[in-house]
Amino acid sequence: MTAHPNPLLASALALAARGFHVFPLTPNTKRPALHGETRCPATGICADGHQGWEQRATTAPEIIRYAWEQAPYNIGLATGPSRLVVIDLDIPKSPDDTPPSEVAELGITDGRDMLDHLAIRHQHVVPQTFTVRTWSGGWQLYFTAPESVVLRNTAGRLGWKIDTRAGGGYVVAPASTIDGRPYTVECDTDPVPLPSWLADLLAEPQPVPRRTWTPAPTTGDRAGAYVAAALHNETRAVASAPEGQRNATLLRAARALGRFVASGQLDREEVEDALRGAGEAAGLQSRYVDGVVASALAWSIRNNPGAAA
Ligand SMILES: [Zn+2]
Repeated sequence: MTAHPNPLLASALALAARGFHVFPLTPNTKRPALHGETRCPATGICADGHQGWEQRATTAPEIIRYAWEQAPYNIGLATGPSRLVVIDLDIPKSPDDTPPSEVAELGITDGRDMLDHLAIRHQHVVPQTFTVRTWSGGWQLYFTAPESVVLRNTAGRLGWKIDTRAGGGYVVAPASTIDGRPYTVECDTDPVPLPSWLADLLAEPQPVPRRTWTPAPTTGDRAGAYVAAALHNETRAVASAPEGQRNATLLRAARALGRFVASGQLDREEVEDALRGAGEAAGLQSRYVDGVVASALAWSIRNNPGAAA
């Protein structure tokens, strides 16, 4: 088999042919290449209101061809419009990234072990489905979303090192690369339906209200303007933090913004994207930034459940 001259384009088209909605990510990152809510010029495609990546994700081959002929964009796959639930099984990011003792006692060393353990506990198995190996060595299991219930993203809810991406979420799709390491298809079969025992666990009432970030920073909406200002100030602090203070600034910003994720005033993806961009601008490794942001957001969501505006 000869290599495709544009493997990212080929993969984006193949995913779209399966009915998956894709959009471009900035090359070598997990960040949307499209402008975010806070930087919307309100022109062109956004003339009648901001169109986020979830709205702009597409299956149209001509749009995909046009985008991926411009630059080697990584591929974002919007799970909501694709009617997918993706289970993201991570591996420890560093030697200190160890499981809680009750998990360690079971011999669990990564998200895949954790999911297998969960399946055994519920007397089920994890069915074989479309599986992607991530650049960092984790796995992403693609399932079709249940019709009966609307599932949103979760972080650590099923267990240690297990996140899920559904409505309001996206994953980085195969052929994308980060620091030269690709996302690859490990099991190329059609996604099977999300097992009902997993759907039940994910559909349980959320401890935290999950609302999407609504455009708020207009005159007269002081709470919205306050949140937008916090996002702006925290990301600016990270991007401009001097060496020696970058890590602490990033952690503080992620925890501060996590409060608004917990209260539903900011969308988790938006905060992650903003902090990734700022961290990378400050010269922090994207992999490191992702780790800090994920743990700090989880911390603040745990510690600020449904905090008031
Ligand atoms: Zn816009």
